[in-house]
Amino acid sequence: MELSRYLKVYTYSEKTGYLLLFSTKKSSKILLKEETFNSILKGNFSPENEAVLLKLGMIVPDTEAEKREVHGMLDSINEKNRTLNVSVIINLDCNFNCVYCYEGDMKGKHYMTDETAGLLVDFIKSNFTPNKKKINIDFYGGEPLLSLELIKEISGEMKSFAEGRGAVYSCHLVSNGSLFKMRIAQELAGLGLTGVKITLDGPPEVHNAFRPFRSGAGSFEGIIENIRQTCDIVNIQIGGNYTQDNHRKFPLLFGHLEKAGLTPDKISEVNFYPVMKNPSDINSHVDFNDGFMSLNEPWVIQAGALLREEILRRGYNSLKVTPSPCQMDITDFYVVNNDGGIYKCQSFIGRKNFEIGNLRDGVADYKASLKLGIWKNGECKDCEYLPLCFGGCRYMTYVRDGNISKVDCKKPHLDSVLETFIKQDIKYKVLNH
Ligand code: SF4
Ligand code: SF4
Repeated sequence: MELSRYLKVYTYSEKTGYLLLFSTKKSSKILLKEETFNSILKGNFSPENEAVLLKLGMIVPDTEAEKREVHGMLDSINEKNRTLNVSVIINLDCNFNCVYCYEGDMKGKHYMTDETAGLLVDFIKSNFTPNKKKINIDFYGGEPLLSLELIKEISGEMKSFAEGRGAVYSCHLVSNGSLFKMRIAQELAGLGLTGVKITLDGPPEVHNAFRPFRSGAGSFEGIIENIRQTCDIVNIQIGGNYTQDNHRKFPLLFGHLEKAGLTPDKISEVNFYPVMKNPSDINSHVDFNDGFMSLNEPWVIQAGALLREEILRRGYNSLKVTPSPCQMDITDFYVVNNDGGIYKCQSFIGRKNFEIGNLRDGVADYKASLKLGIWKNGECKDCEYLPLCFGGCRYMTYVRDGNISKVDCKKPHLDSVLETFIKQDIKYKVLNH
């Protein structure tokens, strides 16, 4: 037996004489006595320790075989995947005027037509191969609820199609939350809606400045009321977008949630993200220059750890440290724009050179144009973080370089935050599923 290539070992001052071991391959962790670890290094295993560490992926019989297994991880995820996932940008219209809106000059009265929706339904049906057990659609906008009737039509058709095949249909919304009333939640829950991701950018004074209605009026109170009305009907996930200047105010949001009765048992997850800089090919209607360009920026590292600690300390769930490949690498995942163009990532919507096909003509081979397998270079192939990264986010590279010919290396970021995140998970007893 040898130590896994994907093992991180940290000191653990919270418990004298213990080390913290974490597997980037299995997202497993264990506290181990230092003397036990030292005897393992010398090849002395008790049968009990060997069985546990083997199960957790921390020791392996053959590190070369392990490396091959990790290099085949994306293929294996794709082979085992039984869900056809489609994200639908159902319109590019919005009743908000957010200062950092990534849609920039793409925004406007662009709605998916009934005809395109018909082609979408046909596309999903023809891609629902016999090995699939589930269809999931994530409806995005603009604001998806401005296309409520079309969401109902598509969901009604998909639900009866899936059930007719002995499969399940589910859908989610990524919404600004202003239109998500109880009646709508009940109606959509009957059509497969299981979750809604709603954005709250911190406490009212920050949120209302960043995410006002088009009229300029604040949106915070109305959204909170809508979450209160709907959180027992579907899962509500809260997301928020912070900047270097305002991130320290985000924890104030929790006082407002608690006052409204939106305690951790009512909210399925809370995650805050730094606002990304707009790429140079987008003309935002507002001059917003506070975005970040790399997860490795020191303030992004520091803010991410601070806010995650605050979320967990308040008892809410947050994203776990687990392998989560870029969706571009997932075969049965598509993003369909309102005009019928097909992409592999929401962030690239509208950039024709990243379109991989359309609903009428189908999908072309995109492996080369989207640089799938970009991680198959010397450095990534031997990287201990490979299972957590696989070359990072292509869009981030695009924002930074204007093309996707390089990896988006998360090494400095993971070197800085991984230990903190794992220790947070232990402190707040976060379970990896
Ligand atoms: S390119 Fe980035 S944003 Fe797009 S799917 Fe991949 S990880 Fe996500
Ligand atoms: S991009 Fe960087 S962190 Fe990611 S796998 Fe490659 S070397 Fe590792």
